[in-house]
Amino acid sequence: MQLILPVWEVRMVNTISLLGSTGSIGRQTLDVCREQGVRVVALTARSSIDLLEQQAREFRPRLVAVYDLEPALELAKRLTGLDIEVVYGLDGLRRAASWPESEAVVTAVVGMAALWPTMAAIEAGKRVAFANKETLVCAGELVMDAARQFGAEIIPVDSEHSAIFQCLQGSRDREEIKRLILTCSGGPFFGLSREEVGKKTRADALRHPNWSMGEKITIDCATLMNKGLEFIEAMRLFRVTPEQVSVVIHRQSIIHSMVEFRDGAVLAQLGTPDMRLPIRYALTYPDRGKSELPGLDLLSCPPLTFAPPDLEAFPCLKMAMECARTGGTVCAVLNGANEAAVELFRREEISFGQIPQLVARALDDIPNIAHPSMEEILEADRQARECVRRRLP
Ligand code: NAD
Ligand code: MG
Repeated sequence: MQLILPVWEVRMVNTISLLGSTGSIGRQTLDVCREQGVRVVALTARSSIDLLEQQAREFRPRLVAVYDLEPALELAKRLTGLDIEVVYGLDGLRRAASWPESEAVVTAVVGMAALWPTMAAIEAGKRVAFANKETLVCAGELVMDAARQFGAEIIPVDSEHSAIFQCLQGSRDREEIKRLILTCSGGPFFGLSREEVGKKTRADALRHPNWSMGEKITIDCATLMNKGLEFIEAMRLFRVTPEQVSVVIHRQSIIHSMVEFRDGAVLAQLGTPDMRLPIRYALTYPDRGKSELPGLDLLSCPPLTFAPPDLEAFPCLKMAMECARTGGTVCAVLNGANEAAVELFRREEISFGQIPQLVARALDDIPNIAHPSMEEILEADRQARECVRRRLP
């Protein structure tokens, strides 16, 4: 007897608003839109209008929002006659995020700046393809509560969390999860002592072994703060306890993360390191879009290795795991202090070793508030940044 399979309708999104289109995730999202035929109806960036102009001419969105006023005025001039509205500021970003025509919003803005536009997308009930991790670290509980309240789907784009999300498909009961296993490349300074790591330069830190990303996250990968932020991100997205999250060093970045279930089964998602896969999945979910990119060739893969993280050499990961266990505004302090310290390191005003020191001082100085409101989270973030700036010699 011939088995007749039903043909499912592909439920991928047809239109998106892209927040942070000029960055690493933003540009790769546009690749996926070209590949999948997704229409981009709103674009946003902070200030890089040359690229934004090029993107607007190609994708012909209805709206472009530029955070800074001057470049917004210049872009409006350049796009005259194209029937594209150009807006600026936080209100502009919010409008892009809640634009009625877009079915999904990709949050590819770096840092806490993504908070308000992300909340606008959630309140408009959009699917949110969540690349930005800082907002989940600081205000993840409030963000996830709001998503539930407004019926907004949250689909992770961060590769580890996308891997976990993919492994969880078909699992109907969260009680089945025993443990989430986040894989970590170890970054460019794997195997070095704390002293050796502390002396590394900006150029050293910007050399990631497996991924090509924006500068802030590349530096976070070198301190392993990125894995610390992802530890908290995993707790918020999947509503698990810190005891249910573990980190394993996997230098090859082929296994993107794993889930261990209560019956002992461990599911993993594998693939060549390419952010377009998790971006594509977030836009095509619950289906899988077709990709012409070369797949994983297991026979030419290096041996897959695993090791525990060195929390002594990489104190940022240790601090983040402690903050995850403590909960409250410490997570916002951790993130705010880290954003400010990384910015100083990028400008070569502090050494690499000072990043964890400044974060530790902010955590020591700022009192924690359990179960904080949004105002308390924003105040903790402000105090942490201020604390890092004050400590400058
Ligand atoms: P990036 O620095 O390359 O790009 C950042 C984008 O945000 C740019 O378009 C910039 O214009 C915009 N932006 C910055 N500040 C802004 C502001 N104040 N207002 C409006 N727009 C602003 O960063 P990225 O590497 O693409 O990372 C983006 C987010 O995705 C981060 O939260 C990062 O942790 C996360 N992420 C990135 C990767 C990756 O491979 N790059 C992987 C996983 C997660
Ligand atoms: Mg990641």
